[in-house]
Amino acid sequence: MSQLSFSTLQLKPELIQNLESMGYQQMTDIQAQSLPTIIAGGDVIAQGKTGSGKTAAFGLGVLEKLDVKRFRIQSLILCPTRELADQVAKEIRKLARAIHNIKILTLCGGMPFGPQVGSLEHGAHIIVGTPGRIEDHLGKGTLKLDDVNMLVLDEADRMLEMGFQASVDFIISQIPQQRQTLLFSATYPAEIADIAKKIMQSPTKVTVEGNH
Ligand code: ADP
Ligand code: MG
Repeated sequence: MSQLSFSTLQLKPELIQNLESMGYQQMTDIQAQSLPTIIAGGDVIAQGKTGSGKTAAFGLGVLEKLDVKRFRIQSLILCPTRELADQVAKEIRKLARAIHNIKILTLCGGMPFGPQVGSLEHGAHIIVGTPGRIEDHLGKGTLKLDDVNMLVLDEADRMLEMGFQASVDFIISQIPQQRQTLLFSATYPAEIADIAKKIMQSPTKVTVEGNH
């Protein structure tokens, strides 16, 4: 744990209050090192072990940047598996509890397509999903990412290992270049560095060794 409290950050007051009610007092190291840059609008590559608190790091960045009055898909969070996407969506819903009328939608493979299309017709602010299914929706025209200004790649190393590189490339080609990009990973192999170079703008790199 860092010694820093979330209240040292320029976050919406309702986010800070909700963190208190969640019992999150101090930031973990990866949160303390990445959130100031994320909130300032910079691209960040953050490397840290499982359990280091990466979800709240990018989740708070996404929620701080979001304009809930604009009912458009403003953030896309890509995860390697449905289980991880569900966990991320659950944590972001908790972090977002004090933001009224926020709509967070998960789009993962292994789930029927039709209901996802129905949900997309109703609209969302944030999409959390797996690359294959997001690519399918883009291909069918049931999802448009023209208003996305924040892209998060969570567990980027695992997404690569699972063979999602081509899907991720295609998805990124459908998102405006004028955006903020956050890349979170447990490891940082050369392939990830290459991808980061292609899709990010002067990223700040943060590495945390321990768990908290
Ligand atoms: P990672 O994605 O790095 O593996 P998670 O985001 O899943 O880690 O977080 C691990 C656990 O730590 C979760 O149960 C989460 O609720 C908790 N957690 C994250 N940040 C904090 C914090 N600042 N204070 C207390 N608990 C936290
Ligand atoms: Mg994680």
